[in-house]
Amino acid sequence: MKKRILTGDRPTGKLHLGHFVGSLANRVKLQDEYEQFVMIADVQALTDNFENPQKVRDNINEVALDYLSVGIDPKKTTIFIQSMIPQIAELTIFYMNLVTVARLQRNPTVKDEMKQKGMEENVPLGFLAYPVSQAADITCVNADLVPVGEDQLPMIEQTREIVRRFNTLYGNVLHEPKGLVGSSPRLVGTDGNNKMSKSLNNAIFLSDSADEVEKKVMSMYTDPTRLKATDPGHVEGNPVFVYLDAFGTDKDKDQITSLKERYRTGQVGDVEVKKYLVQILNNFLDPIRKRRSEYEKNPELVEKILKEGTEKARAEAQQTLAKIKKAMKIDYFS
Ligand code: ATP
Ligand code: MG
Repeated sequence: MKKRILTGDRPTGKLHLGHFVGSLANRVKLQDEYEQFVMIADVQALTDNFENPQKVRDNINEVALDYLSVGIDPKKTTIFIQSMIPQIAELTIFYMNLVTVARLQRNPTVKDEMKQKGMEENVPLGFLAYPVSQAADITCVNADLVPVGEDQLPMIEQTREIVRRFNTLYGNVLHEPKGLVGSSPRLVGTDGNNKMSKSLNNAIFLSDSADEVEKKVMSMYTDPTRLKATDPGHVEGNPVFVYLDAFGTDKDKDQITSLKERYRTGQVGDVEVKKYLVQILNNFLDPIRKRRSEYEKNPELVEKILKEGTEKARAEAQQTLAKIKKAMKIDYFS
């Protein structure tokens, strides 16, 4: 039997370059070797967007198109919508007994996000508890591997703790999942912020047009210590070079190395480096745009993929829940 992958994204916006190098590339690569489930996490999106349901609704389709456009193949991967799997909500309730509030408050990602969203004083219970719900997502199909960006590793650790506790208390039912981070575990934003994110207005989206990419790149943050093209510049951590390294192909390597050298020694201006980056990114995005436009022409097909994927995921979750309830001695009248 193939091992299983479960992962997903919140429908809070379109997916961006950070998603690609953090997680999507691994999903495309591993979909043959693993039985893969990819979830559009609308329930989790609502934990900090419950006042804006239309945004979540609109982005279900965008995220589905993003998946299909990067090459997640619906014949190999089950794509589904979280809220349509009630077993996940059930499991979340069971797992809540196995976690303390103090442990959730110590979760470094939850802490950062609460600060960023100004929730420190009045955090909604649903938001604080989203790592518990993530444990339910991962275990509802008893997944072994979770391809994610680095910010999600604390969630995997929390899931592993819940799984160990469950198995100790009720018997060995659940797999202890491992996280797998991509080639850039945390891609910087165009503004130099340490994480490109849908909510920080610092993202280049997989669906951006060539013109949008150009506009964003030309106004990117680079090296603040460098005032003139003849000043020696910093390459390490400079978003322009981070993106060149992440999205240049093998045949671009020599050119990138030479640009870095010229930048370090004050022999090239930002504009030239940025123009080159625009070209690299558009080469990378062109095939993705092409596939996206094919699927955009066929919304019935996208809906069918989501509907069938959701039915399949639900059937799997039902089976897992039956085992869990039996272990917890709450399998009445069967
Ligand atoms: P939001 O701002 O709504 O939280 P997000 O951009 O953080 O959006 P998520 O849907 O929360 O995106 O994350 C989905 C997956 O993509 C997670 O595994 C996350 O770690 C990964 N990811 C998101 N941003 C990046 C990034 N900049 N670099 C690497 N991985 C990322
Ligand atoms: Mg996030």
